[in-house]
Amino acid sequence: MRYLPHIEKAISRLGYIKPEYAPALAILMEENEGHHPHKIGRLFRQIGIQLSAQSKRDLGIRANADMTVEAIDALTEKGRTAPLKGLEATLLDAQFSYFRERSVRSGLTSGRDRFKIDGMFTLECDGCRRLDGEIATSAFLSKLPPPDCQKEACAIGIQLNIDFIQELVHKERVREAAQKKGLLARIFKRD
Ligand SMILES: [Zn+2]
Repeated sequence: MRYLPHIEKAISRLGYIKPEYAPALAILMEENEGHHPHKIGRLFRQIGIQLSAQSKRDLGIRANADMTVEAIDALTEKGRTAPLKGLEATLLDAQFSYFRERSVRSGLTSGRDRFKIDGMFTLECDGCRRLDGEIATSAFLSKLPPPDCQKEACAIGIQLNIDFIQELVHKERVREAAQKKGLLARIFKRD
């Protein structure tokens, strides 16, 4: 369940969903990979027994909106004050967290541990603005979203950042070392 740690984090960060529903939402995200959290949230609100029109109105949602007994049960007190928004924000936050982890993982796989923070909402979020453009290692991933993030779903990104000059210096050193080794072999018949 590759989405589980991300949905768990989003649940505890936002407080809309009961923690025991994390595996259910992780499965739903995995099964619907590539779909927008809005659609995944709606799907969750469609599986099970639909609430009566009156119960929906009591919750402050439209009578024709999808909402099941099961989905309402997944919501905390706070979640019930915003049943549609709370669920979607949690899924979206988990999705962004998953994207960040994926981009760090692929950087590490290619042997690089240098990333650039990409503050998505630099106008609306102090955390995004503070960190935008900062260079960090993969260890910084656990510090995202930043504590001063003002968004429900934090879209702050972390992208592989290649320092081209450093890469050139590195390649040059490798080339020189190989050349010296070659000369040693040819001139002194040693390896
Ligand atoms: Zn933010």
